[in-house]
Amino acid sequence: MPRESRANSLLAFENLESNVRSYSRSFPVVFRAAAEAILEDEDGREFVDFLSGAGTLNYGHNDPDLLKDAINYLDSGGIVHGLDMATSAKREFMECVDAIILRPRGLTYKFQFPGPTGANAVEAALKLARKVTGRSGIISFTNGFHGVSLGALAVTGNRYYRDAAGLPLAGAVFMPYDGYWGADNDTSDYLDRVLGDASSGVDLPAAIIAETVQAEGGIHPATKDWLRAIERLCKKYGVLLIIDDIQAGCGRAGSFFSFEFADLSPDMVLLSKSLSGCGLPLSLLLLKPELDVWRPGEHSGTFRGNNLALVTATAALQKYWTNEKLSQCVTESGHFVSERLQQAAQSGRYHGLTVRGRGMMQGLDCGSGKLAGEIVRKAFEYRVVVERCGSEDQVIKVLPPLTIDRETLQRGLDILDKSVRETV
Ligand SMILES: *Cc1c(COP(=O)(O)O)cnc(C)c1O
Repeated sequence: MPRESRANSLLAFENLESNVRSYSRSFPVVFRAAAEAILEDEDGREFVDFLSGAGTLNYGHNDPDLLKDAINYLDSGGIVHGLDMATSAKREFMECVDAIILRPRGLTYKFQFPGPTGANAVEAALKLARKVTGRSGIISFTNGFHGVSLGALAVTGNRYYRDAAGLPLAGAVFMPYDGYWGADNDTSDYLDRVLGDASSGVDLPAAIIAETVQAEGGIHPATKDWLRAIERLCKKYGVLLIIDDIQAGCGRAGSFFSFEFADLSPDMVLLSKSLSGCGLPLSLLLLKPELDVWRPGEHSGTFRGNNLALVTATAALQKYWTNEKLSQCVTESGHFVSERLQQAAQSGRYHGLTVRGRGMMQGLDCGSGKLAGEIVRKAFEYRVVVERCGSEDQVIKVLPPLTIDRETLQRGLDILDKSVRETV
């Protein structure tokens, strides 16, 4: 077929790709290239990316420094795949994380490389928590999202995903997340009460798994006091604390780990999405050394540590995390986004539009999935790519690359603002 007639044609996707595809429905064009915060489709039209691969592209698309290191590595004949054999790339990555991220923060962890997805890290963490404690239950929180493989899905609240499981989802109990009963109700009191009452019906769990800002669940930032209370309860009852930092980590909430503001020291930390720095699949389970009770190869996988991704991850740490610049930038840009969204929310105040978030994870809660859907569809017509989250898809999730320049950020926010005003 001549190229012209193929441009932006979605026919092949309709004919060949499963019904399960989703983002290609929300954004019905064919993308062919990207740089920084801009996506380009087959007609050469530009879109401002406020989705960032759902938090996978914190440093934008195709960061030239990261790509240069990847290309040099490939050119030099570096190991691309080596199961979990010792490689130079993995050593350099681990030493860099330890020196640049962990030690300056007073944290000591061992590294487990599960399969390359976030859900792989969640599965590994849940299995390890069960093995360490000899208990099977996990406490998760209302509206939490941890992935869609069966173990991860069991600790995920979302009804749509749970309904597709095909098997009973076992081993999890859900407790109210911070703010679930309004700002005045400290839900950690309830957790303390049920864990302290042997006859509450809630068995002592192996672990509590939590996000510090629920992302897919609708942009719910937990407070410092609540997070600290959860950590205290874990210590009090001998339960492990797993922080799922897959989306909120790698700077999205302002600091490298999203829990730094609450000064937590979780037993396990999960990273994935933006860890490789450029969208390559990579995931990591950080575990306290005393929890390392695995026997060799007991939890396995073909793709444990993607060496090319380890190279770009190391480059990202060296480029963005050896000084405070990125963190400061996230704080400033986050305030800017929040203010602009508040203005947009004002124009929709009769619909009760509200804004919440932390750092560069900001949500515009439209109260209804229908209204939020109309706004993001309009924004896409004006060439902003932005998605929705929350139990009813009622929250517009604004996740620009952290490194976005002010002019492009402004351009995207202007379009979002216009889309709100034209819809409400
Ligand atoms: C995306 C995500 C996951 C799952 O990661 P996958 O790579 O999609 O398996 C788990 N937890 C959180 C908080 C996420 O945002």
